[in-house]
Amino acid sequence: MKLKFWGARGSIPVSGAKYNKYGGSTTCVEVRSRKNELVIIDAGTGIRLLGKELVKNSYNSFTMLFTHSHWDHVLGFPFFAPIYNKKTRINTMGCSFSSDPVREIIAKTMQPPGFPVKFEEISAKFQFSSLCSTGCEIVGGLHVVPVELSHPNRGLGYKFSESGKHFVFLTDNELGFTHPGGLSFADYAAFSSGADLLVHDADYTPGEYPRRMTWGHSTWEQALNLALEAGVGALGLFHHDQDRFDADVDRIVAECSLRARKAGSRLKCFALREGQEIKL
Ligand SMILES: [Zn+2]
Ligand SMILES: [Zn+2]
Repeated sequence: MKLKFWGARGSIPVSGAKYNKYGGSTTCVEVRSRKNELVIIDAGTGIRLLGKELVKNSYNSFTMLFTHSHWDHVLGFPFFAPIYNKKTRINTMGCSFSSDPVREIIAKTMQPPGFPVKFEEISAKFQFSSLCSTGCEIVGGLHVVPVELSHPNRGLGYKFSESGKHFVFLTDNELGFTHPGGLSFADYAAFSSGADLLVHDADYTPGEYPRRMTWGHSTWEQALNLALEAGVGALGLFHHDQDRFDADVDRIVAECSLRARKAGSRLKCFALREGQEIKL
């Protein structure tokens, strides 16, 4: 399984010299199976550059999954070039978020008067199917299991498995507060147990959290505690706060690594960078 993170920023895209290292684009993750089948998670602003690459390589058929419908996770959809190509076939799997099916969520990003092209006018062919059950094989050998997030308006996290390797993706997940539909810390630890890589929401510092509790995000410390409890191989901090400069993220990674070592763990702690590729 190969992963590429096209956006790791949370809540709103940012730009400027102080964001160069970790990037300013919001959530979009590319998951490639061993047979080079593609699954895309979320359509944050990072999906724009992924779309250009797919067009360049004439890659026309793939699956899209969504974590939830908040703006930072769907904002890039109208700027995803493959949707304007009639050869494109998109298999979209998901659940209803805050009562709207996935089709409605992505169609809303192009709804007048907010955008000049309507969803009904784009050329790509979509197939919508449900992924609310215990999981399924998306493409040959690549298996996915969804889990409900603890987040306002609900959402889904995912565990991808292929050839004995496991990648767990839990963004926009508040470990310190249980939202409707959300699970307990112990449940997320069980879900993530033994993963080779856990990528988790780490929007806040412990000092910021008391003022932002119930907003749907975790601290890097809570994400670390989950990673240690679940015994994962590596923890990738994700959904960097819009006000977090590169130097701030570097300090968080250093503190996270130190805490892991003090806990007697060999866990690798790092922060996801826009454009980063990882092979499991
Ligand atoms: Zn978000
Ligand atoms: Zn959200």
